[in-house]
Amino acid sequence: MTQSTATPAPRAARRSVWRAVSRRVLRVLAPVLRPVRDWQAPRIHQWMMHQASKPIELPGKSALVIAPHHDDETFGCGGLIALKRDAGVHVKIVIVTDGRQSHGSVPGTDVDALTQTRKREALRAINILGVAGEDVHFLDLPDQGLLKLDEARRKQAVAQLADLLRTFRPEELYVNHRTDRHPDHEAAYRLTESAIAEAAVPLRVNQNPNRLIWKGPCRVSLRPKDLAGALRLDVRAAQERKDRAIALYASQLPVLPPGFVGQFQQGYELFFPTERAN
Ligand SMILES: [Zn+2]
Repeated sequence: MTQSTATPAPRAARRSVWRAVSRRVLRVLAPVLRPVRDWQAPRIHQWMMHQASKPIELPGKSALVIAPHHDDETFGCGGLIALKRDAGVHVKIVIVTDGRQSHGSVPGTDVDALTQTRKREALRAINILGVAGEDVHFLDLPDQGLLKLDEARRKQAVAQLADLLRTFRPEELYVNHRTDRHPDHEAAYRLTESAIAEAAVPLRVNQNPNRLIWKGPCRVSLRPKDLAGALRLDVRAAQERKDRAIALYASQLPVLPPGFVGQFQQGYELFFPTERAN
């Protein structure tokens, strides 16, 4: 990635402070802004999907998909995965967290049973998309805790991902967007970047906007140059399988906000390529 020569550290620090302050303000204003978001999000999504992105052909390249939670792979690129498998292309999937926090602090939730349920759901959903269980890897890191990993655990996760990159050598990688408006999603992106640097393998990285468009109308998380690079893939031929895979996440669907799932049932998927030096 091209770096500016002008004092990057203070600028990064200012950006991080601004991000933290704006998130806090948005949290306070959330009840007021929610109706605005619910009205705007599908419209922005439609605009991104049909006007503000460039159509691409299915990349016939082997791919590693890194999902922070069970379901992110299906929401973000389930159609792409199914179409790649139809074309005989090798796809592996990593589920990064153990999923134990998906029901928050709902009383009576057996979190250990929930993690097993989520694993079973993921394997069945991913199987519908054409990927066998042997190509699904679970890192079992703490759900809602990726940003707070201690150094030893973070290094271990990076090493596991780097090892997979070295052995599998995918031509492409898909991961949630670096500003995907969820701490685990953004942390998964950073772990991925560290793993790519450690493995030193050349590959193309595409970011899935699973939450940032839906969450973001009140604070745009995308820079103009991100928007200019937006790509869309027509996945209508795989939408029915993607819908079936989504439906298999039965433990998750009831806890997702109204309207959230609909953005992944439009027949197209959006990707933002990461600029890389290699
Ligand atoms: Zn997620």
